[in-house]
Amino acid sequence: MSNREADLQFEYMEKASAFVDELANTLGRIPTACVVTFGCQMNARDSEKLSGILKKIGYELIDSENADFVIYNTCTVRDNANQKVYGRLGVLNGYKKKNPHMKIALCGCMMQETSAVERIRESYHFVDLIFGTHNIYKFAELIYTMFVSDSMVVDIVDGNDKIVEELPTERKYPFKSGVNIMYGCNNFCTYCIVPYVRGREKSREPGDIIREIEKLSKDGVTEIMLLGQNVNSYGRGLSGGITFAQLLSEVERIDGIRRIRFMTSHPKDLSEELISVMAGSDKICRHLHLPLQAGSDRILKAMNRNYSKEKYIALAARIKDRIPDISITTDIMVGFPGETDKDVDETIDVVRKVQFDNAFTFIYSKRNGTPAAAMENQVEENVVKENFDRVLKCVQETARMRAKRFEGRTMEALVEGVNENDSTLVTGRLSNNMLVHFEGSNELIGRYVKVSLDECKGFYYLGRKVF
Ligand code: SF4
Repeated sequence: MSNREADLQFEYMEKASAFVDELANTLGRIPTACVVTFGCQMNARDSEKLSGILKKIGYELIDSENADFVIYNTCTVRDNANQKVYGRLGVLNGYKKKNPHMKIALCGCMMQETSAVERIRESYHFVDLIFGTHNIYKFAELIYTMFVSDSMVVDIVDGNDKIVEELPTERKYPFKSGVNIMYGCNNFCTYCIVPYVRGREKSREPGDIIREIEKLSKDGVTEIMLLGQNVNSYGRGLSGGITFAQLLSEVERIDGIRRIRFMTSHPKDLSEELISVMAGSDKICRHLHLPLQAGSDRILKAMNRNYSKEKYIALAARIKDRIPDISITTDIMVGFPGETDKDVDETIDVVRKVQFDNAFTFIYSKRNGTPAAAMENQVEENVVKENFDRVLKCVQETARMRAKRFEGRTMEALVEGVNENDSTLVTGRLSNNMLVHFEGSNELIGRYVKVSLDECKGFYYLGRKVF
């Protein structure tokens, strides 16, 4: 942890807040800010850090993008995420024309792509600030630079070893929080842009992680999600010699933490030690997200995934054998270059054999700069669409059947909020990550309650609080 850097950023927060105060005087009200998150849990956690700093320097956080400061925390895993950002920037420009004090900022993975930054510099002159994934800790300093500058501020760095913690964060939920345990990825799956935009893997020191969770626990957090692109390789490169399973055991000992989740696991690095720790734990949630991506050995090899279909199936079987009530979910990609109908049959075969509780199925998106983008055998769109539908159908059938197995059982749910569509209901999350809706009011939010899962509705339950 770099304390000197954190101190410096606190100084910039003071300087930036003077500008926000001045703006408040001009506007005759508290200036508003809106943080918009695209993409994964890592980005969601980063957005909490951005929100914390905005609040600290005097902005009021709101959900509307018609605000005095709007920041898009972007994702670039799929091309349509990039297109969405360009489209929405047009809307922001409309707001800015009516509010000349408005500032617009962009950060996150998409900003690590040179072509995206060039396009914004050339065609989106109304953007005030651009930065990437490696210098998010400098947000206060960048805001200050933006306030004193007449032109677009762009600060993109290619890599950075600094891990700066202890800056303000504004959590979305008071009772649960993500905790970064590592940054970046070394795996270079051939379709994936993450190692290029997030940089090489680096683990945080276990002592820093534990201290952060202890602090969160004192602050009322009971559920934590340990975050990393590949948590199973946590600890590599640290001098103390610690594995992810050992880190989990240490986290388990922290008073006040009742639930532990983690994301994401690479099948090639999932150890027997981890399965044992999970099996013996009361706190580690009964949910494992284990991205499959494809079922054909030929495609898995071309993807550089480093496991075979049989190895994946055997691993899932061992996990279910040791932890019978676990829910296994996955990611499946359809349409990787060279994928044939027969390859997709192999993927469907894995879905049938493993019986996933749910799967995020998506179409391969060509990302410039990755090895897969340069492969000549890109699959035609109509073929991909047909295969996608076949996989999705099988995934949905399997998931419905799997969800049924808990119907009628009583389980513990952590109540996350009032139901969005029916205010007489609250929504709780089960240890296996499924949702249950049941009668209740907002005083249950953040509490653990026993719920009878009366009716399975496919991907969620309708239930009843049990006294
Ligand atoms: S493990 Fe593969 S898919 Fe996941 S972030 Fe790393 S390179 Fe991308």
